Amino acid sequence: MHAAAVQQVIDELGRLPGIGPKSAQRLAFHLMKLPTEDTARLTAAIDEMKARVRFCDRCFNVSESELCTMCADDRRDATLLCVVEEPRDIVAVERTGGFRGRYHVLGGAISPIEGIGPDQLRVRELMARLEPEGVVEVILATNPTVEGDGTALYISNLLGEMPVQITKLARGITTGSILEYTNKEILADAISGRRDY
Ligand code: ZN
Repeated sequence: MHAAAVQQVIDELGRLPGIGPKSAQRLAFHLMKLPTEDTARLTAAIDEMKARVRFCDRCFNVSESELCTMCADDRRDATLLCVVEEPRDIVAVERTGGFRGRYHVLGGAISPIEGIGPDQLRVRELMARLEPEGVVEVILATNPTVEGDGTALYISNLLGEMPVQITKLARGITTGSILEYTNKEILADAISGRRDY
């Protein structure tokens, strides 16, 4: 048994994605050994992020103002809309340097096991953007996982009635992989070689 204050930190760290009980314990003891000014810097950075960063009103990317830098940039092609699961996927696509359209962040993928349905995602907000923004092509760039593929299928069915072209990334990205960890050249090829859904 650890002291209650240590156990509290272990419990909180253990709630983060990808941190198991052992990692949580290791991190907590590491933090305990750090000088106070180091841990203060970490908590201050988290506080500042929470105070300053919000979600973009339009695409739900992380942003420091109402519109994110992508939505506020008039040079980007508004007719081309890339739909992704999370803001970190935007970072992955931007790293390829080959996409000049705009984005829409769903906030996850449909997962019945985790109780996430379309209503928990920004699907309605996506549909509402298409006509006013003059979107011509929607690129479904969800992760090639069971949940990501299911989400893309759901959205493509919804879009079926709308006068937009629906495309998906070309093959080349391994099934089950996550865009964030996909090699930049492979992702660039998958975007430029995208095909009709
Ligand atoms: Zn935005």
